[in-house]
Amino acid sequence: MQNIILIAPPAAGKGTYAKLIEETYHLPHISTGDLLRKESTKDTPTSRHLKEIMSAGRLVSDDIITSILSDRLKQDDCQNGYILDGYPRNIEQAKAYEEMLGTLNKDLGIVIYIDIDEQDAKERVLGRVVCPQCGASFNTIIKAFSPKENNHCNYCKHELVSRVDDTEETFHKRFCEYLEKTDSLVKYYQDKGILKVVKSQNDDTTEIMLERIKKMVSND
Ligand code: AMP
Repeated sequence: MQNIILIAPPAAGKGTYAKLIEETYHLPHISTGDLLRKESTKDTPTSRHLKEIMSAGRLVSDDIITSILSDRLKQDDCQNGYILDGYPRNIEQAKAYEEMLGTLNKDLGIVIYIDIDEQDAKERVLGRVVCPQCGASFNTIIKAFSPKENNHCNYCKHELVSRVDDTEETFHKRFCEYLEKTDSLVKYYQDKGILKVVKSQNDDTTEIMLERIKKMVSND
């Protein structure tokens, strides 16, 4: 198997696809947001600093994230590949990541970019619900992403909740900001020839999306 970087705009269903890839290829899903949240609950000076940065919505410094992520990637379950989510977020991190991989003797692998139109993404936002326990996300409007049991997580059965920032007004701003920030990163990986674009539309079922992702993974 190989290492996968997963990039997707807000509401593209990144959590759902990460879970699908995790289950299909038995790869660990490594979210830097989750790693940092876990680290911030410890009682150390770095943890207290992390809590402060994250609650202000700022990016954590490269040296902290590099150290936490490289420790995670050294673990046994990452030796046959992993799905990286939330990192790298910019070209500086992309370069730091390559250095980290060199030290760990690992390959860059592939980058899966979930490409979704703004209109489709907006429709998803209005119906989105997430599991506060395991982080999986679902959609109560779009059938393909509906939870199997009414308002309960398919994986851990916890009750699902809406995100407070899922409003039409904030969506447009978030979507544009995201594209602006990730544009250069996407181009960076395109130029390296490792970018795999998976188009996503609202009537695509999870099975269709999985087939597209599988083609990208096995084509490599
Ligand atoms: P997320 O769960 O991806 O939204 O991340 C939550 C918070 O963790 C972000 O607001 C940042 O403070 C921090 N974080 C996650 N990933 C990174 C990253 N790649 N670089 C810097 N900070 C990050």
